[in-house]
Amino acid sequence: MTSATVSAGTATVTSMTTNELRALAERRDALILAHYYQTTDIQQLAGAVGDSFELAKMAASAPQKTLIFCGVRFMAESAKILCPEKTVILPAPDAGCPMADMITPEDVRKLREDHPNAAVMAYINTSAAVKAECDICCTSSSAVRIAESLAENEIIFLPDQNLGGYVAERVPGKTFYLFDGYCPVHHRAGAEDVLAVRKARPGARLLVHPECRPEVVKLADGVGSTSWILREAETAPPGSEFVIGTEVGVVERLQITAPEQTCFLLRAGFVCPNMKKTSLQDVEKALRGEVPEITLAQDVMDAARASLVRMMAV
Ligand code: SF4
Repeated sequence: MTSATVSAGTATVTSMTTNELRALAERRDALILAHYYQTTDIQQLAGAVGDSFELAKMAASAPQKTLIFCGVRFMAESAKILCPEKTVILPAPDAGCPMADMITPEDVRKLREDHPNAAVMAYINTSAAVKAECDICCTSSSAVRIAESLAENEIIFLPDQNLGGYVAERVPGKTFYLFDGYCPVHHRAGAEDVLAVRKARPGARLLVHPECRPEVVKLADGVGSTSWILREAETAPPGSEFVIGTEVGVVERLQITAPEQTCFLLRAGFVCPNMKKTSLQDVEKALRGEVPEITLAQDVMDAARASLVRMMAV
């Protein structure tokens, strides 16, 4: 990557090359982490790439004192909660998650009042303040297992109604109360998109994320987390065709990690604008100490950590 490079998806211009940024990260004792939905140049720069749960685990075990978290705010917050002694920086401080922002701590307290016998289960895509009000967190890959493991027969699931509905169907013995949040990116796809793509790509396997609407999940050949989708495509026989029902970053990554496969996006516009906010220049600024670190109130951090640790123990 040369100087003054324009990256995929963003007008990213930096005075430093990728190698210079890596060297700067090493001098600062910093690890650059990138989510699979980040632009290709950020993923190529990063020392660790993963989904939100993998990144949180890598953050916790990293020897570096500083974490440059290329993702959205709730992810950087999770890293700070799990490693409070580290400096965690979100290079694009305005990169939020609209789904995480759909629910507040007050909403959770109200749900508890309405359903006093229910356990509160929060998808990891929530703010620290919301995690602090919950009993346990989950990821898309662990949600069913975690719901089954709870002693309570009633579960408040938040904030994603689609993931919550997916879990409820697979854990039929329990009563679920679903918050009505959704990911604006995944929620866009409908059955008409699946029918159109089935017609255009009859030989392709459709793999979707459970944040998609139930009608899409029902019509898919496989449903799972971002990492699961990547693994399925990467380990399939060479020459396989896939239609991917999640953010475009996954298709871009598969072009690098599984170039022998042919992958299409379920629908145009499967792009998370917040995930595309981080530029190489933002990372450079973060490494130079020009971006404020993530700070959280101690009581919020402690309560949110309890929810994350319970999830990890299941
Ligand atoms: S893809 Fe959806 S859930 Fe993920 S960060 Fe973007 S808006 Fe949030």
